[in-house]
Amino acid sequence: MTPPPSRRRRGGTPERSYPRRGAVRRSQVITTYGVGSLVAVDNESFIVMGTDSWNVTQAPTIYEHRLARVLGVKSFRLPPASDDTSRDGIRVRRFPLWHSCPNCDALQHVRGFNSPPGKNDCGDCDEELVPSRFVMACAKGHIDDFPYWKWAHRNNRQGQESGHCGGEMRLRTSGKTASLRSVLISCTCGIPEVSMEGAFRRSSLSGLKVFCSGRRPWLKDAPTEHCAETPRTLQRGSSVAWQPLVKTALSIPPWSDGLAARLGDHWENLRAMTRVEIEIYLKALTMQEKYEFSTDKVVALLEAENQEDLAPDQDQPRGHAYAALRKQEYERLVAGRLESETDREEEFICEPPRSSTAPLRPYGVSGPMLVKRLREVRALKAFSRVDTPDTHDEVHEAALSLTSTGWLPAMEVRGEGVFLRLDETRLDAWARSAAVAARAERIRTNHLRMLRDRAGEDHTVPDSPAGPRMVLLHTLAHALINEWSLDGGYPAASLRERLYADDTMAGLLISTATSDSAGSLGGLVAQGEPVRLEPSLHSALTRAKWCSADPLCVESEGSGVGGINLAACHACVLLPETSCEHNNGLLDRALLIGTPEDPSVGFFNGAVMP
Ligand SMILES: [Zn+2]
Ligand SMILES: [Zn+2]
Ligand SMILES: [Zn+2]
Ligand SMILES: [Zn+2]
Ligand SMILES: [Zn+2]
Repeated sequence: MTPPPSRRRRGGTPERSYPRRGAVRRSQVITTYGVGSLVAVDNESFIVMGTDSWNVTQAPTIYEHRLARVLGVKSFRLPPASDDTSRDGIRVRRFPLWHSCPNCDALQHVRGFNSPPGKNDCGDCDEELVPSRFVMACAKGHIDDFPYWKWAHRNNRQGQESGHCGGEMRLRTSGKTASLRSVLISCTCGIPEVSMEGAFRRSSLSGLKVFCSGRRPWLKDAPTEHCAETPRTLQRGSSVAWQPLVKTALSIPPWSDGLAARLGDHWENLRAMTRVEIEIYLKALTMQEKYEFSTDKVVALLEAENQEDLAPDQDQPRGHAYAALRKQEYERLVAGRLESETDREEEFICEPPRSSTAPLRPYGVSGPMLVKRLREVRALKAFSRVDTPDTHDEVHEAALSLTSTGWLPAMEVRGEGVFLRLDETRLDAWARSAAVAARAERIRTNHLRMLRDRAGEDHTVPDSPAGPRMVLLHTLAHALINEWSLDGGYPAASLRERLYADDTMAGLLISTATSDSAGSLGGLVAQGEPVRLEPSLHSALTRAKWCSADPLCVESEGSGVGGINLAACHACVLLPETSCEHNNGLLDRALLIGTPEDPSVGFFNGAVMP
């Protein structure tokens, strides 16, 4: 065999730029093709490299003070979009490395194929190689090639290590189905041919004494880690092979007027200073940046920060700080921020409507606010494999870089929105009804069962957020988004819900969600004026009374994945994925308007007469 071309020899495969073929939008670098994920481009497969190997000279820095504090970073970077004219800075590397040739059926490490430079072909057949459909990964985020040799030689290893049988491996598919049973692995050493059947079983690899290799191929030069996790076989493109952990925050006062962002990288210095030191520091900065920094304002911000309790705290459970972020937003949405009191750089403008809110009173809807300007930052904090945050309480967060970069990839969304609350006294009275409680409890029970089933044994599952208040607010958000998309002409996918539901919050925000400035849809705030909101509510709730799938839909004892919806289906209240915070789960129309048998379970039952 001739030696492989030199460019392949050092340290596996070379890094390259993010594939341009198949344009990747900026937002997808956060949610779909982020660090550590596997991307298929034409017939090749790559893993997206860690942020410490990105070329970020062209990537704009953005700031979101509260979110940065919670995530323990100084700033965020917008990932370069692949259709930028600039040289894009995201690196990828070939992965998995094992490939097969569809012509000669050879199955081996890509190096062994002797491909011509710049191609990914079988040197013997001139056929394009097919990357392995299977990979091996563990819940700590490690990922490696599927151990084909050990899989095929399971009964014939006699203490030998991988590849020492002297044979050459083959992969062929029998029949036309894509089932595991029809994927057949053999070796010219003469072992019996085996299929891939059973490879996805939890213990299929540990049963063959295959241990996690502790590899992190997305991190350049990362040492292998010692790992005691049981490795699992995964499909290369499956969602369990890569789940993003995305954290979001709205920019709200006092951090949203541009001052906090201007001081972005300086906060760390400022935090350690006395007032006098701050004054001197800012004087120098004012000269340098030609922008007047007020010592009073900066000191006030530092004091506010001390009050906030957002910094990561070892003693608090992980979710605590995120819950605190939401709570602050809620309080700010309730309190508002008048345009007349702000400067041009303010990112958050939230005003009460001009018209009387009296028409909303029969609905139990209170405190509508018109959010004329808002900015949301969505950051990729980490990712997980095998276990997902939906199903596991303490999912392992795989790091985006080997050494701390001080920043995380993020995207910012600007838009506008409508915020409204439900009267809490009325809510509590309604939620006390046994029939209401029973419906919410059924959702909760189904949800917890689904979480437990997915998590498997000996894992703690997160608590279900389902309760009467949450399911009601959630379903109302869906009904309103549907209404505004059918009646107001907003594509449903361009509207997003953000729920504020717990013992102390009962609100929902519906906002436009476009990351490209050109596509911003104006006019949503106008829908929040009570004179327009009242007919919208009326129409949304009337529509929610009926579903083309009734009576099946309304009588459902548990629909959707895991049965975590009751009366809710694609014909009535489900939304495009991007609009929903809860994967279209935890919904029930009956809590809005009741059932034909028992109208009283509907919170809005009195407001919308038959
Ligand atoms: Zn071949
Ligand atoms: Zn063999
Ligand atoms: Zn591992
Ligand atoms: Zn339905
Ligand atoms: Zn939703």
